[in-house]
Amino acid sequence: MRDITHFIDGASVAGVSGRYSDVYDPNTGEVQARVALANQAEIDTAVAAAVRAQALWATVNPQRRARVMFEFKRLVESRLDELARLLSSEHGKVLADSRGDLQRGLEVIEFACGIPHALKGEYTEGAGPGIDVYSMRQPIGVGAGITPFNFPGMIPMWMFGVAIATGNSFILKPSEKDPSVPVRLAELFMEAGGAAGVEVKGVLNVVHGDKSAVDAILTHPDIKGVSFVGSSDIAQYVYMTGAEHGKRVQAMGGAKNHGIVLPDADLDQVVKDLSGAAFGSAGERCMALPVVVPVGAKTADELRERMVAEIASLKVGVSTDADAHYGPVVSAAHRQKIADYIKLGADEGAELVVDGRDFALQGYEKGFFIGPTLFDNVKPAMRTYQEEIFGPVLQIVRAETLDEAIALPSQHQYGNGVAIFTRNGRAAREFAAKVNVGMVGINVPIPVPVAYHTFGGWKRSAFGDTNQHGLEGVKFWTKIKTVTARWPEGAVEDSAFVIPTMR
Ligand code: NAD
Repeated sequence: MRDITHFIDGASVAGVSGRYSDVYDPNTGEVQARVALANQAEIDTAVAAAVRAQALWATVNPQRRARVMFEFKRLVESRLDELARLLSSEHGKVLADSRGDLQRGLEVIEFACGIPHALKGEYTEGAGPGIDVYSMRQPIGVGAGITPFNFPGMIPMWMFGVAIATGNSFILKPSEKDPSVPVRLAELFMEAGGAAGVEVKGVLNVVHGDKSAVDAILTHPDIKGVSFVGSSDIAQYVYMTGAEHGKRVQAMGGAKNHGIVLPDADLDQVVKDLSGAAFGSAGERCMALPVVVPVGAKTADELRERMVAEIASLKVGVSTDADAHYGPVVSAAHRQKIADYIKLGADEGAELVVDGRDFALQGYEKGFFIGPTLFDNVKPAMRTYQEEIFGPVLQIVRAETLDEAIALPSQHQYGNGVAIFTRNGRAAREFAAKVNVGMVGINVPIPVPVAYHTFGGWKRSAFGDTNQHGLEGVKFWTKIKTVTARWPEGAVEDSAFVIPTMR
């Protein structure tokens, strides 16, 4: 059995806790490796290495840190196929999608290559007599990232790309379900330091684990900031526990994104967009579109009919099948959870138009596959509407007016992403302004912002104040220091017993 080890202080380190978690190949349903789960002492060792490394790393000038990022980007790109294969073998998404996962992460690394510019402070000359004021952004110290299974390449890079470029060292606790790619990324980062001629030992550490490791991170006094992405209840727990222990915390949670379809939308395009956004990656994306809201009965009937035909054309296959639209879900337990939601939806009275539960792939009967599923006449009071399913299940919720359609995502507990499909610019503009959701697409089904903008939802989709990557990321991983400097000339000035003001 292959053991997946931690990566601490620049080297692979076997786990000593005696606790392991199985890592499956979701295509075959077989265990392919086991991953060590860290205990408190192992987190302590990693943090001690990160503290040592950070003292040196923070003195490396921003341009040289950027050079390491350039090398890292080059190395990841040169191994993109190997990394995508590894990612697919543990996650189950198809190879092209795994390459996309890594590519979206690399876009944040590209942003990090320009970090000298983002770290420039502000300067005011002559704020008072002989007084200048300037600000600088300094690293917070040791940062930690706790990441979900669904983007094992992109989400770690969202976090450590910006954290490290801004002068912090980092502890990454990836999902125990697909832990290999994060380790390979840390190894390549070490190599990048060597290629750039900069010491990076201990700057990026990967420690695997479950709740015990997360708790050790959240309570460790030397970890100053925690970035989390995962499900909402755990995000809230991470946010509250981390904050209670004096850390800054950003914690992204679950989602239930809606696609609003107005009667004037190009339905041919909408069906293609919905199909990719609802079923791509087996629906295991926080920016998937699992709910579609057609406005008006005519739009709804037409959309439903075309969607049924589109679903019939989809191919579910193994990750390495270049013709497959999507692969298996991540685990047997997750497949069961999705099947249970489909049963619940039917029991609640929604109309089950296409049922994917009986799907099986010949030769891969033990793989974690589930077919595309479509519900119509889903109502806001249903649990299957209110909760995140995170599988290849599309729900049609019918609305009569644009206002009714805007109210649905706006009142939902989650507020990650939303999209509107229309040819009417004024309606789209009004929608974007009014909707109570963090990321909006206009004829864009998966509106994940580009790396130099910033990613984050609203309501129970994100706890904390700062988003991922872009300048918000720089803000999260740095502390601002403001210096007021006076270089007096001439006679000694009198003591000031009142608060100094700028006259
Ligand atoms: P998860 O919440 O089960 O796990 C996330 C991380 O938390 C993992 O590293 C896991 O080891 C750790 N963890 C698990 N149980 C824990 C516990 N009891 N205490 C502390 N830590 C614990 O999420 P997942 O199933 O890996 O990922 C899917 C979820 O992530 C979905 O809800 C999805 O919407 C969400 N997600 C959100 C975003 C976003 O940006 N908003 C992006 C991707 C995924």
